[in-house]
Amino acid sequence: MKVLKFGGTSVGSVESIKQVIQILEKNLTEGERIAVVFSAMGGATNRLIEIGRMAAAGNQEYFELLKAVEERHFATIRGLINVKQQSSTFANVKGLFNELEDILRGVSLIRELTARTMDLIMSFGERLSTTIITETLKNKGVNAEFCDSRKLIHTNSHFGMADVNFELTNRHILEHFAKASALQCITGFIGSNAEGITTTLGRGGSDYTASIIGAALDAQVIEIWTDVDGMMTADPRKVTNAFTIPSISYAEAMELSHFGAKVIYPP
Ligand code: ADP
Ligand code: ASP
Ligand code: MG
Repeated sequence: MKVLKFGGTSVGSVESIKQVIQILEKNLTEGERIAVVFSAMGGATNRLIEIGRMAAAGNQEYFELLKAVEERHFATIRGLINVKQQSSTFANVKGLFNELEDILRGVSLIRELTARTMDLIMSFGERLSTTIITETLKNKGVNAEFCDSRKLIHTNSHFGMADVNFELTNRHILEHFAKASALQCITGFIGSNAEGITTTLGRGGSDYTASIIGAALDAQVIEIWTDVDGMMTADPRKVTNAFTIPSISYAEAMELSHFGAKVIYPP
């Protein structure tokens, strides 16, 4: 078993999603048993946070921003799926946006935004991207299935940065994969507490989702696909002559990520 995770930039545009699909198809034709975790489209989580805060402040312009996020997802569907087969994906995605719109209307009416509601709002990023990519794979004839990680990743109620209950989580992951035959397309970042309320694992937490699933399944490999070629000596956005480190010890990788190398989420 191999777990692949694609971050925000990898799923941020039609072109990059097409590349992701090629990578997945290559793994499948090589007979590899894989599971895949997706982040929200690049920038989507930040946008959702901004929209939530605007709604809570009573700034009605949140609605314009929400419509722009919706249009970005619709355009992605149009770029990926044949016209004749788009309608069910549109219906799914529109359903998610309707739900999000209701939540935001509630937030703007009561002018209150708790960490719990923010987690619910943020969860739409991964739910949307994963829905679209799963549907695209199915459209290409891949036996793929949307997997909502809230059914698998069980956490406490520390909203925004929830701690995982590994006993329950590992058991549910094993049970789920024992029954699953299709390629599991899993939402990163999100989980749920004992009451089934949506939680998140902290910003950048989709890496962690992939690790939790890989560890539970005793996977041989967990691949974190992103916009840089591996861990580098420094953040290439800040240091132009940074270069890729060919191999790195676990302890060194931990140290780098703890000091802010967001290429890997510390937990
Ligand atoms: P993703 O959305 O795929 O999870 P992130 O933006 O979270 O991607 O992480 C990748 C980014 O991490 C890179 O674009 C890079 O700017 C940054 N980064 C910071 N430190 C490092 C480092 N030491 N090595 C590689 N990338 C780093
Ligand atoms: N979408 C979430 C974030 O932006 C999680 C992730 O991308 O790993 O923080
Ligand atoms: Mg990241």
